[in-house]
Amino acid sequence: MNTVLFLAHTECDGTLHKSALEALTAATALAGGLGHTLVVGIIGAEVTAAADSVAQCGARIYGVSGPAFADGRYASDLAAAEAVAKACDAQIVVAPATSRFSRALPGLAVRLGGRVDTHLSGLEAADGQPVARRWFYRQRMEGTLTRSERPWVLTLDSGCAEPFSGAGKAEVEALAVDVATRTTVSGLECPSADQQTIRPDARVLLVAGAGWTKKQADGAVHVDAAEETILTFLNATKSSLGSSKSLVDISGEGHAVISFLTHMHQVGQTGSSPRHAKGLATCCHGEEPHVVGWRFIGERRAINTDAGCGWAQGKCDVLYVGDAFAVMKKVNELLG
Ligand SMILES: Cc1cc2nc3c(=O)[nH]c(=O)nc-3n(C[C@H](O)[C@H](O)[C@H](O)COP(=O)(O)OP(=O)(O)OC[C@H]3O[C@@H](n4cnc5c(N)ncnc54)[C@H](O)[C@@H]3O)c2cc1C
Repeated sequence: MNTVLFLAHTECDGTLHKSALEALTAATALAGGLGHTLVVGIIGAEVTAAADSVAQCGARIYGVSGPAFADGRYASDLAAAEAVAKACDAQIVVAPATSRFSRALPGLAVRLGGRVDTHLSGLEAADGQPVARRWFYRQRMEGTLTRSERPWVLTLDSGCAEPFSGAGKAEVEALAVDVATRTTVSGLECPSADQQTIRPDARVLLVAGAGWTKKQADGAVHVDAAEETILTFLNATKSSLGSSKSLVDISGEGHAVISFLTHMHQVGQTGSSPRHAKGLATCCHGEEPHVVGWRFIGERRAINTDAGCGWAQGKCDVLYVGDAFAVMKKVNELLG
């Protein structure tokens, strides 16, 4: 009987991340479609709670646990993944495309003499064959691919399947893995929730454009007020922050800058294409190279002083013609 192995690692609190539960849904459907057996492998300091959280998937569950497997480290993650894959003779390995697995699992494919495809957007069985979907050319085209080589290691991006739900009491078969490592993990530094302004799971995207740093009606720039207004809104709503290219490029041109923006925030043709239910563009002109990054945003609104700006050319659902400083100040007051 062929095997689809779902691999996951625990989070710091011993749970499985939402993206892991999504990958489990995809792995379960793939195994069912191919008529393969589903096996689960969990890596972490302590894996019992994580195994219990997916007990109802009905699969045999292997665990590799201990202090050496608490944190992401190429050598230990690879050794653990290899042990599980060999224990169940996996033909297909499905895992979430977390930073931890994105680093370790390509090595697993090499070690097992297989192949790897990463950042996939979907998995399915077609005519008895596993088929993976992947976005190409900055999410403009979605391609499908299959491979005959085995094992085939597949990592799935977040947001591409429903998270699995089905907790219970799991039986975990512990695998002992001896791993000699030269790398010691001395700790993890995570930015606080308020410092981390790119929030892919947020309902709302707030985009800041270069207008926030331009001279306003009084002939002066008000970058301090802009920063405070944007941060107040983000902290109150836990929205995600995006930016236009002009605004993130300004730092290189010696202008006053919004201090918490980086090129990672840039939305658009040469930036990202985030997926949020709603988006609000502020002080951003709405030029095509920017707006193309909005194609997965459900409802689009913009605030601009210019009634003839790009957003007005059919690119948003609602355009508020007004001063974003004043409008967002009022919004923040209403948010309390
Ligand atoms: C090959 C290529 C790739 C590109 N890729 C990207 C990309 O990935 N992402 C991207 O964003 N751009 C990209 N661009 C650049 C893009 O064409 C625009 O230049 C850029 O998006 C403009 O940014 P902006 O709207 O913030 O700034 P501006 O064009 O300077 O617009 C500022 C806006 O703020 C408004 N404004 C000013 N003050 C206020 C106020 N108080 N209240 C309300 N509104 C106010 C103004 O009316 C104006 O509309 C690309 C360009 C090229 C050529």
